[in-house]
Amino acid sequence: MAHPCLSCGACCATWAVQLERSELTRALRPHVVPAASSRYVILAGTEGDHPRCAALQGEVGQRCRCGIYDHRPSPCHEVQASLQRGRQDSCCDEARVRHGLAKLRFDDWR
Ligand code: SF4
Ligand code: SF4
Repeated sequence: MAHPCLSCGACCATWAVQLERSELTRALRPHVVPAASSRYVILAGTEGDHPRCAALQGEVGQRCRCGIYDHRPSPCHEVQASLQRGRQDSCCDEARVRHGLAKLRFDDWR
């Protein structure tokens, strides 16, 4: 079974992804824009009213991948695909619903 994230990408096209400037690496630097506070930066594309991370490749709900997967910042690690480890994740659930996708169910992991 293919991992559900590979045919989703909704969380990368729903939320503003803000991280502390101190977390910036050389690889990540080209992918952020300034935030309201100088302490933070935001992943490019996620700062407006219709967020979609500029690093997201593909079509949401079809085929997606993170173009900077090995360098993605901590907020991206924190979103977990719902129920993969038995726990619901509201960021995953709400993002999927906003994009017209069903929330993940236990059956999706069998
Ligand atoms: S919304 Fe959930 S299933 Fe979709 S890519 Fe994000 S973590 Fe994966
Ligand atoms: S860096 Fe990758 S995982 Fe994080 S929001 Fe962008 S596309 Fe998604």
